[in-house]
Amino acid sequence: MSEPSLPTGRLLKRHSQFYYVEFEGIVYECMGRGNLKKAGLEPTVGDFVTLDSIEVQAKTARIASILPRKNALGRPSVTNADGVFVVCAFREPSFDLTQTDRYLTHIALNGLQPVLCITKIDLADSPLDVEVIKSLYERLGVPVELLSVKRDGVPDSLKQRMKDRMHVLAGPSGSGKSSLLNALNNQLKLRIGDVSDKNARGRHTTRHASLLQIDENDPHTLVADTPGFSNLRFDQCIPADIEAIFPDFSDYRNDCAFSDCLHLTETDCSVKNNMNTIAASRYASYKVLIEEAREYEALLKKTSSKVERGYKHLDGEGSKSIEIVRLQEKNRDPGRKTVRQKVDLWLHEEENQDDSLDL
Ligand code: GDP
Ligand code: ZN
Repeated sequence: MSEPSLPTGRLLKRHSQFYYVEFEGIVYECMGRGNLKKAGLEPTVGDFVTLDSIEVQAKTARIASILPRKNALGRPSVTNADGVFVVCAFREPSFDLTQTDRYLTHIALNGLQPVLCITKIDLADSPLDVEVIKSLYERLGVPVELLSVKRDGVPDSLKQRMKDRMHVLAGPSGSGKSSLLNALNNQLKLRIGDVSDKNARGRHTTRHASLLQIDENDPHTLVADTPGFSNLRFDQCIPADIEAIFPDFSDYRNDCAFSDCLHLTETDCSVKNNMNTIAASRYASYKVLIEEAREYEALLKKTSSKVERGYKHLDGEGSKSIEIVRLQEKNRDPGRKTVRQKVDLWLHEEENQDDSLDL
C-alpha cells in the first residue's frame, strides 16, 4: 500500500539487507520496514519506494512501502524500466538473427519497447550490410541505432533516447555493453573484453542489478547494469503469446481460416499465402521461438494440473487480445516453490551464483 504523503525515492541497488535509495539527489542506505517482509514484499532495483525515518546527516532511512510497478523484468531483477536496448554486435560475435529476434520478442511480451543497438559497425565490410539489417527491423517498428563506440563514441541520438529515463541493456556477452556504458560515463570503469573472466568472477556473477547514473548531476537518466542479462531468459511463454506479438503477421492473421492459427501447417493460412512479403529470417526465428514455447508448455504440463485463464491485451496494429493460460502445480504445497519458479530455477541453475555486489 503506498503512502503518497511520504517522500518517494528510487531503489538503485541492493546489498545484503541494505537498500540504496536515491531521493532528491542523495543516496540513502535503507532497511525495509517490517510490514513489507510480513506481506512478502521484496523491494527490487528500479522500484519507487516511500521513505520514513529519514536521517539526512547519516543518509539513512527506512522503506515504508513500494509503489505499484509498471513492469518487472527478470525474476524480477529490475522493475519500472522505460525501455530496453538490445545490444548486438555486427561482428565479433557475428550478428545472430534468431538471438536478436528472441530478445526483441520477449521484451515486447513484457510490455516494453525494445531499441536495437547494432554495435561494432566499424567491423562491417560495407555499410550496406549494416543497412540491410537496420531496414529489416525498422520495417517492423523497432528503432535501430548503429554504433561504433570505439571509432565514434556514443551518438547523440542514443543519448537523447536515454535522457530522463531508465533503460535496461540486454544482449549477448561480448556485444559491447560495458564499452558502451564506459563511453557514456568514464567514471564507471567497467571491465571490458575477457568474457570468460567476466563470467567467472566480478560483476557478472552478482544476481542483483543496479541502476547506474550516466551523469552525476542527473539522477533521472539511468541504465540498469544487469549481470546475467547477457543470457537472461525472460519470463517464458506459450506458442499463442509468441504468435500474437509477431508484428510481421499483422496484415494477414485475421484472414486465416482458424482463429488460433499458428501459421505453420494449417490450411487456408493467410500468412503462408503471403510468405513472399515476410522476411525469411523472421519466419525462421518465429518457428524456433514457437518450438521453445512448446517445450516450455510441455514442461509446465508435466508438473501441472490446474489451468488458470486470463486475457492479455497487446497494443499495436493487427494485434489481438490473447488468452493466457497459466498452469499450476499438482498437489500444491504452499511451502514449496511454485511450478514457475521451479522451471525458472531449472532454466537458470547454471546461474545460481553468489549474492554479493561490488560496491
Ligand atoms: P560486453 O560483454 O557486452 O560488456 O562487451 P564488452 O564491452 O566487454 O566488449 C567486448 C569486446 O568488444 C571488447 O574487446 C571491446 O574492446 C570490443 N568492442 C566494444 N565496442 C567496440 C567497437 O565499437 N568496435 C570494435 N571493433 N570493438 C568493440
Ligand atoms: Zn495462419
